[in-house]
Amino acid sequence: MSAPIEPVYALAFGAHPDDVELACGATLLKIMDEGRRVAVCDLTKGEMGTAGTPETRRQEAALATERMGYAAREQLDLGDSELFYNKENLHEIVRIIRKYRPDTVFCNPPDERHPDHMKASRLISDACFYAGLRKIETIENGEPQEPHRPKRLLYYIQFKQFDPEIIVDVSTTFERSRGGVLAFGSQFTRDEKSDVPETMINRKEFLPGLEARARSLGEQIGVMYGEGFLLHGVLGIDRFTEVFTPGD
Ligand SMILES: [Zn+2]
Repeated sequence: MSAPIEPVYALAFGAHPDDVELACGATLLKIMDEGRRVAVCDLTKGEMGTAGTPETRRQEAALATERMGYAAREQLDLGDSELFYNKENLHEIVRIIRKYRPDTVFCNPPDERHPDHMKASRLISDACFYAGLRKIETIENGEPQEPHRPKRLLYYIQFKQFDPEIIVDVSTTFERSRGGVLAFGSQFTRDEKSDVPETMINRKEFLPGLEARARSLGEQIGVMYGEGFLLHGVLGIDRFTEVFTPGD
């Protein structure tokens, strides 16, 4: 029998390697600074990306994981640009949720430029619900898994802008989170002499644009940097003054 894995507080999913670091890396660092464990799961290997190969992207993801300090990172192979809504893909995500048993899940937003992001959003949102159903059976290391439903699901901001419901103050972690993003060198840097074409994300304007957005979100809550999220469902509050702290 395999030893059970210690649960994590947060499990962050992305359709492609680098989605998580770009969209919510500073929030994940903040959660870890607060003493909680974080794991990441990429649904695909990013093999259809214009730049980089699955092998370079795997190495880059490993470097990002080391720099960020996650408890674990999983890379599934559900098919870049073929991320279909089907039972097999849904159950693979259910298996990962039950393996790490998170309180909080982060994932791609429902409305996005890249179709994989929207498909991932739907798959992960639904898997969070199905993971709690006892009669859906999944196996990990030859053992049936216990059901587990995360307490909350948050959608991060990617390419399409939206008004967030929650902005996290990431002033203390934003600069550090850039180390996680820059680990994906094949995606965000481009040698002008190489034959890699210019893309939306390797243009020199891309990373400064991300920083400008973090500044703008921070501005909305009176701090230097922010990351924004939508909440799936409603926010239930037990200890009121721990959420809305005095003096806010
Ligand atoms: Zn992506």
